[in-house]
Amino acid sequence: MSIDTASSSAPTERGTLFIVSAPSGAGKTSLVAALLERLEGIGVSVSHTTRAMRPGERDGINYHFVDQPRFEAMIEAGDFFEYARVFDRLYGTSKLEVESRLARGEDVILEIDWQGARQVRQQLPDALSIFILPPTLASLEQRLGNRGQDSAETIARRMKEAVSEMSHYDEYDFLVFNDVFEHALTELESVIRAERARTSRVHRRSGALLDALLSPVDALE
Ligand code: GDP
Ligand code: ADP
Ligand code: 5GP
Repeated sequence: MSIDTASSSAPTERGTLFIVSAPSGAGKTSLVAALLERLEGIGVSVSHTTRAMRPGERDGINYHFVDQPRFEAMIEAGDFFEYARVFDRLYGTSKLEVESRLARGEDVILEIDWQGARQVRQQLPDALSIFILPPTLASLEQRLGNRGQDSAETIARRMKEAVSEMSHYDEYDFLVFNDVFEHALTELESVIRAERARTSRVHRRSGALLDALLSPVDALE
């Protein structure tokens, strides 16, 4: 007999927020996409941005692509959970994207920069943050080139910003080097699974099971 450790009678436990940051091209989007294939009950938040759509990107899937006046109106209306200027464009996570999913008990991943990560930690100190690093600067440049979606000028700009983004690695709870993709993916998955096995979380999710295990043996007779 299998035991349902996610006892359905338990009140819905709020999901956990995971922040994933990396310099552009380190592989955060590919790793997160692969991670979602391996795990249930977790989704990625779709940010709003004022940057141009890349070939192959879709509005509402990769980002909500909006113009600057619309983004500023959303700031004014208090719609953002966090937002930041990155590479001279605005990027932000809307409250709507995150709150309802956490309340439903889903885990949510934010793929955001270090400035956004700081704002999120201030509001939700329980959020876990993971920083993804490339093995070398040369491989980072090569990946940005291989991705084939950015101009030479954009790549040069992103390489310049990479060192400044990476200088914030020590603000994060976990570091993952993305050298061999499968290894990095397993490490990322391990962080999420370990968080799900945290005692306080299992207690909230499966309190009745724990109580049953601790009930006096006499009660079984
Ligand atoms: P990529 O990381 O090279 O694929 O480039 P993107 O244009 O997708 O992202 C550029 C930067 O913006 C990265 O540092 C992201 O982490 C950051 N970013 C994306 N979405 C958000 C967001 O909603 N909020 C914040 N603060 N940063 C974001
Ligand atoms: P980010 O979202 O961090 O900007 P992407 O996920 O778009 O990065 O990855 C940038 C490029 O590097 C993509 O073409 C991706 O396929 C490639 N890539 C990702 N991880 C690895 C890896 N471990 N080895 C080689 N190439 C990789
Ligand atoms: P790109 O334009 O290459 O998709 O993303 C550039 C950078 O913006 C990445 O480092 C990415 O993490 C960051 N970014 C994307 N969305 C958000 C967001 O909603 N908030 C913040 N703060 N940064 C974001």
